[in-house]
Amino acid sequence: MDIYIKQWNDLILNCSFDNTYKMAWSKALVELIVNTNEPIEDIVVFDFNDIAKLCLKYYWNQTIYFDLIQSPNLKKPPGIITYSKDLITLFFNKKQSVQPIRFEKIDFKTIGLAREYEFTLKNIVRTLKQDVCWRFKNLNRETYEIYELDRNEGKVFFNKTNALALKEYSDFLFTVINYRWTQMLEGFNYSPRISRKVRAIDENNIRRTSLKKFHQYLDLMSEGCKRECFYCGENIADNEVSVDHVIPWSYMFSDDLWNLVYCHKGENSEKSNRLPSEEDINRLEERNKQLLDRMKNNTKDYDQLQIAIEKDYVKRFWISFKG
Ligand SMILES: [Zn+2]
Repeated sequence: MDIYIKQWNDLILNCSFDNTYKMAWSKALVELIVNTNEPIEDIVVFDFNDIAKLCLKYYWNQTIYFDLIQSPNLKKPPGIITYSKDLITLFFNKKQSVQPIRFEKIDFKTIGLAREYEFTLKNIVRTLKQDVCWRFKNLNRETYEIYELDRNEGKVFFNKTNALALKEYSDFLFTVINYRWTQMLEGFNYSPRISRKVRAIDENNIRRTSLKKFHQYLDLMSEGCKRECFYCGENIADNEVSVDHVIPWSYMFSDDLWNLVYCHKGENSEKSNRLPSEEDINRLEERNKQLLDRMKNNTKDYDQLQIAIEKDYVKRFWISFKG
């Protein structure tokens, strides 16, 4: 392996588990190199403001979809996470909805959050200057001179040879960074399928598909034509019907009939991303048994529900997420 890339590899794979800043920082640098359109002919300079935008993108998408925890200290989350979350809260308030949207799709100016967005970037830049940019180069009391810094100006410099190497090995480095990032997140989170989540964020395919196709089954539970809310037990008017993941989608990252119920719009557990109570879990198990009885036993969905009941998915997932 190229000696320069070997240094990157060592820094990424051996850095401490304090938080995930170094992952965001290194990933942003590699992404900026990849996105450089002009041929690399001299020194390459990146501005911390552009690095901050990418860091915000990573944290925004990981947080808004999966609410992943980024450090071992729950009481005091890392600053950049707090700034990102604050911006997400402002965004939800503006939209008056908690529907997650990818960072790349948002124009903060159009939705009237230009100032707040710039403020967030400024805060991230400050943390990058103070904590991240120079620390990333240090390992075991040694400094790897993989780039030059101007911390006052907020700039990072790569010579031509190194910039070309980074570009050539970018796929390899993305893989190493995502691997290490996943390792860290697995240490901080009970959430499952973390490597899938980290990859999905890169691949632009965090899709939340329509749950309409499940109506045909959930309707089997309705007495007459009235749909009943799983949480409050009242009937639901047609324009108030919503399908809810009892164990929130951000934990499961999939749509499974055994985890889906009808509820009133706005009563979704998604809203809080909280795990359901034991009582709800018990009722869901009971519901699944009744539903299975009412389904035709010649479909894939029937088989899946049956397996979920036999293998006790509801309780098992719930217990494992509670930690
Ligand atoms: Zn209700």
